[in-house]
Formats: sequence, structure tokens, C-alpha cells
Amino acid sequence: MTAKKPRLPGIHCPHCGDRSIVRDSVQVTPIVRELRLVCDNIDCGHYFVAQLSVIRTVRPSACPNPDIHLPTGKWASQPANDDTPAPANDERPPAATEAAPMSG
Ligand SMILES: [Zn+2]
Repeated sequence: MTAKKPRLPGIHCPHCGDRSIVRDSVQVTPIVRELRLVCDNIDCGHYFVAQLSVIRTVRPSACPNPDIHLPTGKWASQPANDDTPAPANDERPPAATEAAPMSG
């Protein structure tokens, strides 16, 4: 009987949508790992970087690290809150209408 290989998390190429392959990864912080990926489509050839991060606790650790503070939640992805964020450029008038008139 052969041992099952662990499956790496996959992400599709954001340009062509094909499968991508993790070539390397680096631990950035205790909760963030940076993945270096290559698109598997030879006609695309996109190389890119993605992040894998721990975002919440589903069941508390029996060996907690006092420096790690994560929100608790469920397996299923849920929005962090019910607030509807305003579009990034929708809260303020364009800079030209906001600037003070120039003197002289
Ligand atoms: Zn691609």
C-alpha cells in the first residue's frame, strides 16, 4: 500500500484560468505563507505570487501560542461583518474639486 501524497492547495491562473503549479513557498509570518506559482498553460507562461494565510480558528488549539490571535468562526466562508463598504473612490469628490483655489 502506498501512502497518499498530501494535496497542495491550488489556485488557477488569474489570466488564462488554467491550473497553476506551486514551485516554491516561503513562510512569511506564523500565519502567512507566500506561494510562487507557474501557470501550467505553456501558451500563457504566467509566473505569479499568492499568499496562503490562516484567517480564523474553527476549534481552539490544545497548544496555543500566546502571540497568535485569530478570530473564531466556522469552516464555511462568511463575511467578516455586515457592513457594506463604500467603493474605494466613491467617498470623496475628485481631488480637483477639493483642492483650495490657488492664489496669485
Ligand atoms: Zn495562465
